[in-house]
Amino acid sequence: MKIGVLKTAGGLASGFVRQGFRASVDFLLPPLCLACEQPVTQHQTLCADCWKGLHFVGEPFCTCCGAPFGLPVEAGALCGACLHQRPVFNQARSVLIYDDASRPFILKLKHGDRLHPVSALAKWMVRAGHDLWGSCDVIVPVPLHRWRLLKRRYNQAALLAQAVGAQVQRPVAVDALVRVRATASQGHMNRAERYKNVEAAFVVAAPSKVKGKRIVLIDDVLTSGATVESCARILLEAGALMVNVVSLARTKSAT
Ligand SMILES: [Zn+2]
Ligand SMILES: [Zn+2]
Repeated sequence: MKIGVLKTAGGLASGFVRQGFRASVDFLLPPLCLACEQPVTQHQTLCADCWKGLHFVGEPFCTCCGAPFGLPVEAGALCGACLHQRPVFNQARSVLIYDDASRPFILKLKHGDRLHPVSALAKWMVRAGHDLWGSCDVIVPVPLHRWRLLKRRYNQAALLAQAVGAQVQRPVAVDALVRVRATASQGHMNRAERYKNVEAAFVVAAPSKVKGKRIVLIDDVLTSGATVESCARILLEAGALMVNVVSLARTKSAT
């Protein structure tokens, strides 16, 4: 009985210590807006101006590629690009529109000196892809960075993938795909050229981790869609059952 009381007291005490530690960390690091770093009242959030400025992908959007529609459409509608030709991945979902408002925010994250938003961004990605996690066996990050002018110290897609994986409790196969060839900048290319450009850029390095699996591919930004399509194609060729895509941001019409 005495021991029980002591144990309870010890538990309470360590709880207080933890709370005290947490409070002191919060005191040392005042909450800053995830995007502009202005002071805010809560950790892991945005200031009012950034909430207003950033464009979140909301319904209605293409049920396949996730491209937002400007007008109300019936549930399950496909965009023009997907009607013309379905991508090889099953469905893609994104958090933000990649535009003038979100670009500086995402580029800052890419520099590697601002990692504190990763878990908050992963939470947004989990929410954006909420209907995909039930059919996800393994998460695979895109091993590619398209902003080749910027040097970086880590793969942002892999960091996001690991944070998402921890939240949805799915394994993350960081080394399943590798980039074997540098790809030319895609800015000036048409759709066909973009697909050709990334065609042989990736290989499946760990086939046993993808064979027979339903995969969610994680990327930071979807631009042409050619990169994730190329990754999805080789994953399917390696025996993956299905590939879905979740990205932090996307251009308005990515495919
Ligand atoms: Zn802000
Ligand atoms: Zn579409």
